[in-house]
Amino acid sequence: MKIAIPKERREGELRVGASPDTVKKLVGLGFDVVVETGAGEGAAFTDDAFKTAGATIGGSAADTVKDADVILKVQRPLVRGEGGDELANYKEGAVLVCQMQALTQRKCVEALAKKKITAFAMELMPRITRAQSMDILSSQNNLAGYKAVIDGASTFNRAMPMMMTAAGTVPPARVLVFGAGVAGLQAVATAKRLGAVVFATDVRPATKEQVQSLGGKFVVVDEEMEKEAETAGGYAKEMPPQYFEKQKKIVGEHLTKADMVITTALIPGKKAPTLITEEQVKTMKPGSVIVDLAAETGGNCEATEPDKVVTKHGVIIIGHTNMASRVASDASMMFAKNLLNFVTPHVDKESKALKIDWDDELIKGTCVTRDGEVVHPMLKDQAAATPEPKPEPKADETPAEDKDKSEGGA
Ligand code: NAD
Repeated sequence: MKIAIPKERREGELRVGASPDTVKKLVGLGFDVVVETGAGEGAAFTDDAFKTAGATIGGSAADTVKDADVILKVQRPLVRGEGGDELANYKEGAVLVCQMQALTQRKCVEALAKKKITAFAMELMPRITRAQSMDILSSQNNLAGYKAVIDGASTFNRAMPMMMTAAGTVPPARVLVFGAGVAGLQAVATAKRLGAVVFATDVRPATKEQVQSLGGKFVVVDEEMEKEAETAGGYAKEMPPQYFEKQKKIVGEHLTKADMVITTALIPGKKAPTLITEEQVKTMKPGSVIVDLAAETGGNCEATEPDKVVTKHGVIIIGHTNMASRVASDASMMFAKNLLNFVTPHVDKESKALKIDWDDELIKGTCVTRDGEVVHPMLKDQAAATPEPKPEPKADETPAEDKDKSEGGA
């Protein structure tokens, strides 16, 4: 059975869906692994390292994925109209495992169904103990939280720790973290390690102890409303407008004193909540920094511009949409391990082929398309609630740029 690891082609993506270590394990399981030449470049994994691990190096995207039974990727493939069509090279019936943003990328999901791809969206992995080693949101957001603080610290013109010197005392930086999930907690820990005084807030009361155990101070907004803030799956619910008003007032006081603000608040499948208005940015200290980790889904700060570092009202606002890619080597190593851990239980030792257990909770929770159909319950509900998208252009109408990108240049 052939497993393909293509080079990522989405703008700004430096990660790769395999590491030399995972290739070695996949080869050990009996797969023929083909890695596209240069696929690991952004993560500092060379073709030679992949070759030593047992892979064959594919010369082009088309050669790499041609006839592949399984494709392991970081990002969902480009589909027609996105400046490329990676899907065009996939064999009908192939298994694709990657981060798909399936809840918001309906066009891609429908293209996958049309091509009869069996697609697994790793971001939909159920948050249960058994799935922890396959959880890409945890592995990538953990690194994103770390890198947010490092990026913030390198951008702002003050020191993080307190320094008492003969020339005077440098006070410790004050860091405020919105959202104490995986990314937020790592941001708290990283800022503490650098010597900052750290405050954090979250709608889920369970996070209070976690913040405190890392040495951070927890800012409570409204205990009553927060009692209902968590879903059964451990995620935050959308909060009512009264909560945001109260948050604005209580956390706003901390905002005016902060040197660095890290925002990480997300609601799965929805636009990120606005937690800092442009008016509030005006109340912040000149030279302070906001790192908005929710930039990709609309931003937690009104003044954030995705993929840009801007200065507004004297405040530097960092809006990188793919923070994990800025730590591409470690992020790829972990992402690849998540993919390997997901696939391994479904490899039949005798036939050395994939034998998917369709009754497995993790398979049911992540499978979005199968046998030409969109099968995930959340997507079926969504489709029923929204109108049909416009028909795709015919094959001969494919823009020339699409053809280029899917074959070679990124
Ligand atoms: P996330 O990325 O969806 O959101 C980040 C944080 O923002 C969350 O803590 C959320 O409560 C918070 N938030 C949302 N709206 C907010 C608002 N208006 N104001 C302030 N904060 C707001 O969350 P996550 O980091 O993926 O973690 C979600 C949960 O899943 C956590 O309980 C985590 O421990 C759990 N988890 C479980 C597993 C597992 O068991 N396999 C793995 C990873 C995470």
